[in-house]
Amino acid sequence: MARQHDADVIICGAGPAGHALATLLAPRMRVQVVERRASPGNGPHIGESLPGAAAPLLHRLGVLEHFRLAGHPERGPAIAVWDTETPVWKDAISDPAGPGWYLDRRGFELMLRRRALQAGAGLAQGCRQTRIGRYSGGWQLDTGSTLYRAPVLVDATGRSGGIARQLGLRKTAADPLLCLYSFLASPPNAPDRAMRIQADAHGWWYTVPLPLGRRVLAYHLDTDNPLWRQLKRPAQFLARARQHPLLAECLEGLVPGRMQCRAAGTVLLNVDELHQAGDDFLAIGDALFAFDPISSQGLFHSLASAASAAKAIEAGSADALRDHRREMQAVAEHYLWHWQGTYRGPSRFSRYPFWQRRQQLPGP
Ligand SMILES: Cc1cc2nc3c(=O)[nH]c(=O)nc-3n(C[C@H](O)[C@H](O)[C@H](O)COP(=O)(O)OP(=O)(O)OC[C@H]3O[C@@H](n4cnc5c(N)ncnc54)[C@H](O)[C@@H]3O)c2cc1C
Repeated sequence: MARQHDADVIICGAGPAGHALATLLAPRMRVQVVERRASPGNGPHIGESLPGAAAPLLHRLGVLEHFRLAGHPERGPAIAVWDTETPVWKDAISDPAGPGWYLDRRGFELMLRRRALQAGAGLAQGCRQTRIGRYSGGWQLDTGSTLYRAPVLVDATGRSGGIARQLGLRKTAADPLLCLYSFLASPPNAPDRAMRIQADAHGWWYTVPLPLGRRVLAYHLDTDNPLWRQLKRPAQFLARARQHPLLAECLEGLVPGRMQCRAAGTVLLNVDELHQAGDDFLAIGDALFAFDPISSQGLFHSLASAASAAKAIEAGSADALRDHRREMQAVAEHYLWHWQGTYRGPSRFSRYPFWQRRQQLPGP
């Protein structure tokens, strides 16, 4: 028979969003985080650019000092061949929030995990099969070995949004974006600190130097574009990137490692329909809105949506929850407006399907 464990809040998903929310709530509430994976992964992890605006959120989590000492390098300028074939340079120093960082993403996530545990959150890992249900006092989540119960349930399961899906909530998928990427061994402390972004007919590239002697090279194209099958071969991937002078000049002599791919398109939970799951259900991070990597806003949104949700959960009132949902709705509208503007930029490619299908704002 399953062991029973009562908490005030159950958070599904131990990613940046789940850990941030657990850290903010745990000093005053019994928080249980339930994670599908048995252990944090190892090796490099894509998703490394953190904007300077995240510093106040890290401060609120009580990790800013530790974060600064961990040695994540500051971001360099962004150089983009986007609207036209002429590279445009945006200096990181011009951002009033500061240049931001290129993260050692694994180290960053471990730091957030340690902080959540230190704040008093419980963490159950390796919970592969979870069944969600109701009981008179709120939600129950059955992992097979343990029955967790709490008045509030939070979906922080990332892009899969597994809990919202189980609850039948609808999502809007704006585009079928696929990210093909590889980590390349690169001399540590290489002087080139720039983020390079390159649009082409079928999508867009980016490359940045990472801590620990690595560089990431990524190409974003549509999942239904057969080109990705060719580019799954490291040599072809690199050769195609090198056709662009902006990329070629920093890829000289580098050899790609294993090719990897991830879904990367915009997916938004319909905030207007969240009430259907109940006023005791929230979604944060990518489970609420998974942003296009071109925005470099995913991690910031994970921390910010967790902070907003923490405020609503602590207040425990219908008004506070409504304010939180309104705030999240405004985030989605602002994001979509910018997202569409970004993809309108390279009008020289407007006859290609990749760019054409991003001209319409997605509807629910
Ligand atoms: C190609 C690519 C590049 C990116 N680059 C950047 C970038 O440069 N900067 C940036 O800020 N963001 C970037 N992002 C986005 C960023 O990685 C995400 O926004 C961020 O990871 C979201 O955090 P999260 O905690 O919401 O979800 P996740 O990090 O996905 O964590 C979710 C957790 O939930 C767990 N889980 C899943 N299902 C279940 C379940 N049913 N039950 C329990 N646990 C479950 C998962 O194992 C995982 O641990 C990028 C994303 C992609 C795809």
